[in-house]
Amino acid sequence: MPLAKSIEAIRADFPILVTTVYGKPLVYLDNGATTQKPLQVIQTMDELYRTANANVHRGVHRLSDMVSERYEAARETVRTFINAPRREEVIFTANTTASINAVAFSFGERFVGEGDEIIISGMEHHANIVPWQMLCERKGSKLKVIPFSDEGVLDLEAYRNMISGRTRIVAVTHVSNVLGTVNPVKEIVAEAHRHGIPVLVDGAQGIQHGTVDVTEIGCDFYVFSGHKVYGPNGIGVLYGRAELLNEMPPYQGGGDMVANVTFEKTTYNELPFKFEAGTTNFTGAIGMAAALDYLTGLGREAVAEREQALLAQATAGLSAIDGMRIFGTAPHKVSVVSFLPGKIHQYDAGMILDKMGIAVRTGTHCAQPLMERYGISGNIRASIAFYNTEEEIEALVNGVRKATEMLG
Ligand code: PMP
Repeated sequence: MPLAKSIEAIRADFPILVTTVYGKPLVYLDNGATTQKPLQVIQTMDELYRTANANVHRGVHRLSDMVSERYEAARETVRTFINAPRREEVIFTANTTASINAVAFSFGERFVGEGDEIIISGMEHHANIVPWQMLCERKGSKLKVIPFSDEGVLDLEAYRNMISGRTRIVAVTHVSNVLGTVNPVKEIVAEAHRHGIPVLVDGAQGIQHGTVDVTEIGCDFYVFSGHKVYGPNGIGVLYGRAELLNEMPPYQGGGDMVANVTFEKTTYNELPFKFEAGTTNFTGAIGMAAALDYLTGLGREAVAEREQALLAQATAGLSAIDGMRIFGTAPHKVSVVSFLPGKIHQYDAGMILDKMGIAVRTGTHCAQPLMERYGISGNIRASIAFYNTEEEIEALVNGVRKATEMLG
């Protein structure tokens, strides 16, 4: 399936891609950390500030009305993008981290007690570890961790055996930000649901690489960040099943989340507003919707196909370098390659690549337990987007080879 635009036209949509770094053309391969923004997003936000800025849900005046309509239309765009059953099940937050913390706190307050258990996996980002640990500390509950193989595949047998009568929630990543593994979230959900246990899926690295259908996955919560899906920073999504969200207490109090306030008693607003206290990042939500529309316009499956081709090229090229270790060789992966060439330190190689204009991530990628699992202090990660080119992948491979020779 071809992309709706040529690669040249796509690259022209992303103004930053023509930047030079130390006089070299920028090769941006840090898309897992954050993605670049197309003009369609930049212009939407610019136009909003120029012509329609007013506080959302707060006024009877025309501008406030217009912004409120666009904010709610953005919610509908998100709903369609992830195929959520109902619009009120889409809550705007600051990012993935905020969404997970909201669930860990609010769900935890209502449903988790002393001696209860929470299951996560060994390949989680810190954002899907620490909020659950904090909950365990507050409540005296216990964290259980699904192990994974050297290839980066979750051990589902261990997962099945881990579920007990005390398990209250399962929280797993859709896609590992280090290994690129696409986890069998539908299967994980089905197993948990057989025991009546809800599942949160961390979609921070899942949402941008093809179609995501929360109804098909069957998960109870799905969370992601705008900035990783070609949208602005400071906006995120918490999708949650209404039945659960209605049972959960709000985790922040303030304006907009209330129905009626007196000093004696306050009643809360309905979904989604119950979980959107204060002035939300409405500009961000509208900008993110423009990004989702952009991806839909390109063709999400075509995006995934192009990225798979670039991933195959990068994996083959890097693997051919002497002493190369690739972390994450699961059969079902997105376009992320983590690697270490020989005994070279990741920072040294990263610095040399930077001088060549090549932007990759080095370090633990906010997944320290995963690094420990492999007995390494960190690695280099190239995360590829559809706007990257074959020439850029070649530049990465040549750059890594050169860095390896230099550091010998
Ligand atoms: N989960 C995963 C899998 C991630 O890759 C990231 C970002 N690296 C996060 C959560 C946190 O996202 P954010 O910083 O946007 O909240």
